[in-house]
Amino acid sequence: MGQLALGKAGLLAEFQALSRPEGQAMRILDVDGTVLRDWQPRPDDRANPEIDRGQLRDLLLGPLDVQWGRGVTEVEPGTRDGVLVRFADGRQETFDLVVGADGAWSRVRPAVSSATPHYTGVTLVETSLDDVDTRHPDLVRLIGDGSMAVYGVNRALVAQRNSGGHVKVYAQFRAPLDWHTDLDRHMGLNRRAGLDLADVEAVRSSLLALFDGWAAPVLDLLRHGTAFVHRPLYVLPVSHTWTHVPGVTLLGDAAHLMPPLGVGANLAMLEGAELAESVAVSPGPTDLDEAVRAFEEQMWARAGRWAKITAAGLERLVSPDPTEALALFDEIQSS
Ligand SMILES: Cc1cc2nc3c(=O)[nH]c(=O)nc-3n(C[C@H](O)[C@H](O)[C@H](O)COP(=O)(O)OP(=O)(O)OC[C@H]3O[C@@H](n4cnc5c(N)ncnc54)[C@H](O)[C@@H]3O)c2cc1C
Repeated sequence: MGQLALGKAGLLAEFQALSRPEGQAMRILDVDGTVLRDWQPRPDDRANPEIDRGQLRDLLLGPLDVQWGRGVTEVEPGTRDGVLVRFADGRQETFDLVVGADGAWSRVRPAVSSATPHYTGVTLVETSLDDVDTRHPDLVRLIGDGSMAVYGVNRALVAQRNSGGHVKVYAQFRAPLDWHTDLDRHMGLNRRAGLDLADVEAVRSSLLALFDGWAAPVLDLLRHGTAFVHRPLYVLPVSHTWTHVPGVTLLGDAAHLMPPLGVGANLAMLEGAELAESVAVSPGPTDLDEAVRAFEEQMWARAGRWAKITAAGLERLVSPDPTEALALFDEIQSS
């Protein structure tokens, strides 16, 4: 889906130059460090290449005139001059069409829908390692060229190679949203005090306790991680739709926030391209509205399907039964 969008934007060749087809490799280990699966892409496989987030953003935004630092606070449809947008700097402007592509906590969404994201029960804590080829050759061998994942009971550790010797690591676990306020009560760890999420060493040692008993090389991913970023996973209701509001629409996470199983950025890009195509061929305001309605119908149908798939996927990936994760990957590989 992402490559389709990049093709429509005339950016496919630049994408291919930056992307990493070898990043499609996927290795699964058990908590003892035994390799259970080791998938390698075929040399000509370009179906799901990886690209670093920053590179993709630069590729997409490079040709555009972006006004940075102009946060939107509110959107009011139906004014005499069109849709009114209020900015954090106190300014306001009206537009024929406002597209809320402003992510999970969209300020545009309330103009069309009262839905708000809810917590999935799964939290990620993200960390990263730099210069791995020189500093952590053992971890390079452990991870391989793409991603490596270890699934335990209600826990998972995922590491992904990025370019430039950078590795992203995600510790994932089922926990109440306020898990860090009382590690003893919420996580069964023998620690009374609450965890300060800004305290790197305290987070590291709590994560190591949470993953206690896992193979030492796997835990090295946490031991060598630099900063830790707390990412509780929120989602919008599956099949989120709204009554069409002339002049305002949503796309991407603002419209259909779902668990991060490799789809959200791809969907957002394809939707952006499709909306642009429909708007570009609509000559007048009535046609513009019709074009947006048609776009919304198409987006809702496709995103609804993916929201169901990713919600079911998250249940199986961070599950009381770790064999579910392996079964899910086997199903994906054989489909
Ligand atoms: C850990 C993790 C891993 C992921 N991995 C993948 C993956 O491998 N593949 C994949 O396809 N997806 C992945 N995703 C999902 C993907 O990141 C999102 O679905 C995608 O970024 C959504 O794009 P978006 O443009 O809708 O929203 P965002 O990327 O959230 O962009 C929203 C933009 O709006 C801006 N904004 C927010 N509020 C305002 C405001 N009030 N005023 C002005 N601007 C505002 C923000 O600064 C931001 O630039 C992952 C997500 C996570 C958390």
